[in-house]
Amino acid sequence: MNRSETMTPATAKPVVDEICDAIHARRRFLITSHARPDGDAVGSQLAMAYALLALGKDVRIVNADPAPEHYMEFPGVDHIEIAREVIETDADALIVMESGDLARTGIRGLEGRFTINIDHHQGNTNYGTLNWLDESAAACGELVFELVQKLGIPLTMEIATHVYLAILTDTGSFHHSNITPRTFDICRQTVEAGVNPAAMARRVFDSNSFGKLKLIGALLDEMELLAEGRLAVLSLNDDVLNATGTTYNDTEGLINLPLTAREIQAVAFFKVGADGDIRVSLRSKYDVDVRAVASRHGGGGHKNAAGFTVKGPLAAVRTQVLDEVIEAVALGMQTRPE
Ligand code: 5GP
Ligand code: MN
Repeated sequence: MNRSETMTPATAKPVVDEICDAIHARRRFLITSHARPDGDAVGSQLAMAYALLALGKDVRIVNADPAPEHYMEFPGVDHIEIAREVIETDADALIVMESGDLARTGIRGLEGRFTINIDHHQGNTNYGTLNWLDESAAACGELVFELVQKLGIPLTMEIATHVYLAILTDTGSFHHSNITPRTFDICRQTVEAGVNPAAMARRVFDSNSFGKLKLIGALLDEMELLAEGRLAVLSLNDDVLNATGTTYNDTEGLINLPLTAREIQAVAFFKVGADGDIRVSLRSKYDVDVRAVASRHGGGGHKNAAGFTVKGPLAAVRTQVLDEVIEAVALGMQTRPE
């Protein structure tokens, strides 16, 4: 959906203005995002939370899973509550960031509330009372930035930091194909507000443990190449985690490494969870559309970064998914820019 379409037909008022009105009219806010939150989820939530606090509102942030460990030093991350169910809350508005449907939050008990749904993924189900969906945004943080501006709230260091975190991470450190002049305009303003891009990049991307470095070595060592070296396949199992003294959480970001090889156009990463579920993460370059593959398996994401979770058996899932990604690579390569 493009920006001119985000109108409410009855009033023809841009939905972002309706969201501003709703925020002014309400006092207590519950903010959530998708399970296994990433930098855009955490950054969008906290930028929103600091903006609401500046307006004198009560704010609670609840996520199903903790933020990645190295985000803990960013302001406010330690205030995020972790829960799979919200039972007692006197919130008079729920703000959901980055979630195509309410189930993506991984939290029960959110239904039936006054809900503000802010997202930039394709296929959002419009579950909110107010739905602000803009697929042209490189990160949900871009939308939060616009909302903060519309609300007339000064760009504090906390808000600027979280907007920058959202954009830096969701663009894959400015690699993905949905980056626009707006992205840089927002980043420029966050830097003017005091954000240090070099320090942010170091904190976000250069915070590996030695164990994670060893894990990277082990996984790349076992990487398989298909489709004439255009598709890289990574697989995680308990043996490699035990051998390197790492956990499942240490795999974050690792999927992007094969894309640094010029020939590789897409990466598929298979991880088997403790519950036996198979988590598949996909990444790609340029016009290779991995979201289309993920959505066929009940997941979603963006053209260059997508994922889904399915039941096994692993061998069958692997064969099917790899066939589909190879096809997506062949299709996407036809329009690859030089
Ligand atoms: P990751 O591979 O890092 O877990 O996810 C990459 C992207 O795909 C994320 O930006 C997220 O939006 C999307 N994504 C991952 N898993 C799912 C899923 O199960 N459902 C949906 N709708 N999107 C997903
Ligand atoms: Mn996002």
